[in-house]
Amino acid sequence: MKAKIIIMMCLLSAAISCSKKADVPGISLFNYGSIPQTEIETVSGTRIYIDIADPQMVIKPPKAEDILLITHSHHPDHYNSVFADSFPGKKLIAEEGNIETAGCKITGIKAIHNIGDPYLAKGGTDYIFLIEADGVKIAHFGDIGQESFSDEQLSLLNGLDVALMQFENQYSGMPAGSDKGYNLIKQIQPKIIIPTHVQDASIKKACGIWKPYFSVKNGVKITKDILPGSTSFMLMGYNGSIYSKELNAQSWDN
Ligand SMILES: [Zn+2]
Ligand SMILES: [Zn+2]
Repeated sequence: MKAKIIIMMCLLSAAISCSKKADVPGISLFNYGSIPQTEIETVSGTRIYIDIADPQMVIKPPKAEDILLITHSHHPDHYNSVFADSFPGKKLIAEEGNIETAGCKITGIKAIHNIGDPYLAKGGTDYIFLIEADGVKIAHFGDIGQESFSDEQLSLLNGLDVALMQFENQYSGMPAGSDKGYNLIKQIQPKIIIPTHVQDASIKKACGIWKPYFSVKNGVKITKDILPGSTSFMLMGYNGSIYSKELNAQSWDN
């Protein structure tokens, strides 16, 4: 009888710890797998919309407490003026700046879209957005076309957990076969890479360098505790379904 009670208690505590793991609050990140448009929701419910080009693909409508970030407004795959103009919350539209809300800090950092481009009026031709919330540090790099990060950028990006980075984009001097995106990632060594502009060859190349994870959903939950120990490459949504077997990717099961 005593042994039976002990076994039951063990099973009960295992069930409790299992359900606790599944319920751990974390940041939710939504991306369709190979486009810049991204939505991030913090634990407290602030939603950060980045490079919204197609309002039809927005997963949740924005509210007054939410934030819109646009890395550059001169390319339509990153900007929709109707969505931006009617956005009800705070915004940084291709500009440096800081936004701080409860538990969430955002920094806009000037960057270069194409080497040799003259800077636009606000100082950059592309902007990196650094989002620090719930103990996780995320950066969206837009269409960064620099060969390397400056010391100033690197100091702000120190300890980055998640990088939304492009790997193949002829419009920012990153043609097929270019090493630019890979070299930028090697400078910052994030724990997770989520590709924005990417094609078949660049996906395969990335998964040969970094450990691949996949999610067949367009959203993943990220907490500081479950970040991989070394840089990993996340295949999301459509790319998650079509490449997971071929590239022997591990499931990001949350
Ligand atoms: Zn683009
Ligand atoms: Zn662009």
